[in-house]
Amino acid sequence: MSENCVFCRIIAGEMPSDFIYQDEEMVAFRDIHPVAPTHILLVPREHIESVPSLQPHHEGLAGRMILRAQALAEAEGIAAAGYRLVVNSGSDSGQAVAHIHMHLIGGRKLDNRIG
Ligand code: 5GP
Ligand code: ZN
Repeated sequence: MSENCVFCRIIAGEMPSDFIYQDEEMVAFRDIHPVAPTHILLVPREHIESVPSLQPHHEGLAGRMILRAQALAEAEGIAAAGYRLVVNSGSDSGQAVAHIHMHLIGGRKLDNRIG
């Protein structure tokens, strides 16, 4: 738990948010400013800042986050049409919340430019 971290506060229940998925190691909730009809954030409960902060023991967690995104895409009904998974890391990426998270974005045709 990092006191000044908005995602830690959401996970701790200090800020209102509806979890659409939760287990012992991660939660998922809808982005407050969705860029597409489906815009879900998958967030580990552990305060890991960004990709360079990942340690070898996070390998399973990282894999399970991708698999959970796949399951959530299925549940949202967007799996067949396709979707995008995004993990911003560091200032050049525009990472705004320094608690690692994966965006699951879909439900419309996405711009094919990544950068
Ligand atoms: P980043 O730019 O760090 O990859 O993405 C952070 C995302 O978190 C943004 O898409 C932003 O809209 C979302 N976000 C920031 N604060 C909150 C919040 O309090 N609640 C929710 N649900 N999403 C948030
Ligand atoms: Zn945090």
